[in-house]
Amino acid sequence: TQPGVIVVGGGFAGASCARALKRLDRDLAVTLIEPEAAYLACPFSNAVLAGLRGIEAQTFGYDQFGDVALIRKRAVAVDAERRRVRLEDGADIGYTRLVLAPGVDLRFDALPGYDEAAAAIMPHAWKAGAQTLLLRDQLAAMPDGGVVILSAPPNPFRCPPGPYERASLIAHYLKTSKPRSKLIILDAKDAFSKQRLFEAAWQEIYPGLIEWVPLSSGGRVTEVDPATRTLVTEFGDHKADVANVIPPQRAGGIAQSAGVADQTGWCPIDPVTFESRLQPAIHVIGDAAIGGAMPKSAFSANAQAKACAAAVAALVRERPPVQPKLINTCYSLVAPGYGISIAGVYQPRDGLLAEVEGAGGTSPLEAPRSVRELEAAYAEDWFRTITSEVFG
Ligand code: FAD
Repeated sequence: TQPGVIVVGGGFAGASCARALKRLDRDLAVTLIEPEAAYLACPFSNAVLAGLRGIEAQTFGYDQFGDVALIRKRAVAVDAERRRVRLEDGADIGYTRLVLAPGVDLRFDALPGYDEAAAAIMPHAWKAGAQTLLLRDQLAAMPDGGVVILSAPPNPFRCPPGPYERASLIAHYLKTSKPRSKLIILDAKDAFSKQRLFEAAWQEIYPGLIEWVPLSSGGRVTEVDPATRTLVTEFGDHKADVANVIPPQRAGGIAQSAGVADQTGWCPIDPVTFESRLQPAIHVIGDAAIGGAMPKSAFSANAQAKACAAAVAALVRERPPVQPKLINTCYSLVAPGYGISIAGVYQPRDGLLAEVEGAGGTSPLEAPRSVRELEAAYAEDWFRTITSEVFG
């Protein structure tokens, strides 16, 4: 085939980028490599856990991709020198430029006791799908009076407010269905996204139900024992009835094998073009990239994808890329009809994506319930809009 642009990974980043490239330049050959027949979206998957939503509302197909050539295979290797991608079936295809958007790998080597087999007992549910349903079913089967433990990873990780939105919605489920139960968050950090908003809401809506144990109070989990559902910290052992272990993460495997990830496990990029700092003609977007001040979110992935597509479309036609400005907003549900958000604007500065001072912010700390209700509705609108832009 004629070399063109290959995009690996059909998530919020890769799917957005493939379609944006085709929109920008109809004559460009664009190929999207994605092994799964359907995409399972993580945003709103915490509502699935809490029984507020079905998994089908999270599921999207690839049948609207028009002129983007779809290859339903896994990419297994990249030859950066010869500019070729190898697929799982041994086929190998050439590219002019390659965009890698593989998302994250959960690190099954970072937390003693937590490997893939342990995840079948202590689900992470940090990739939506079977893991989400497993955690939902464990919560549903737990007797009233049980203890749920959620362990939150150190920075950086996919979706900084995600563990705390999850804690909130699990608390909603416990409060309404199993009111004698308790939720403990064991955290590897001393601070988290939208913390004051979450903590104020927890005090108001779930008094005494959620206990957050920060790093400095012994919150960091150092080992797990799936056989007894025990989480070990430097300050002692915690036994759970349901354990949700969110382990440390790194860029998806193909980024590691392509040589675009550094010793941190994530991929350094040029903030204007998203081209790898380590390999020429390979761009990295979404969760896998080192996004500077940008959080790892679906909103960021989509924004980076469009900026990267513009840069790649310019570079293949030997035109100079333009300086991008990117936006992110992360909504979290604290309860049904109770939403909070954080927003930011980002631009290249000193080789990284830096926050534009004064351009972002969070929901007000003091606000009437009607504001929280509006934000919960905005969250739903955002999800509907982004998924129809990316997959619809
Ligand atoms: P992904 O969405 O993971 O997509 C990666 C794709 O690449 C996958 O389809 C995978 O199959 C494919 N792939 C991987 N390796 C290969 C390979 N070798 N060959 C071919 N294909 C490959 N973000 C928000 O903005 N708002 C939210 O409210 C929000 N809530 C969240 C809640 C939870 C519980 C979680 C876990 C995350 C949440 N996020 C949210 C974060 C969001 O899901 C991620 O930031 C986003 O999915 C990143 O997109 P991505 O395309 O980089 O990776």
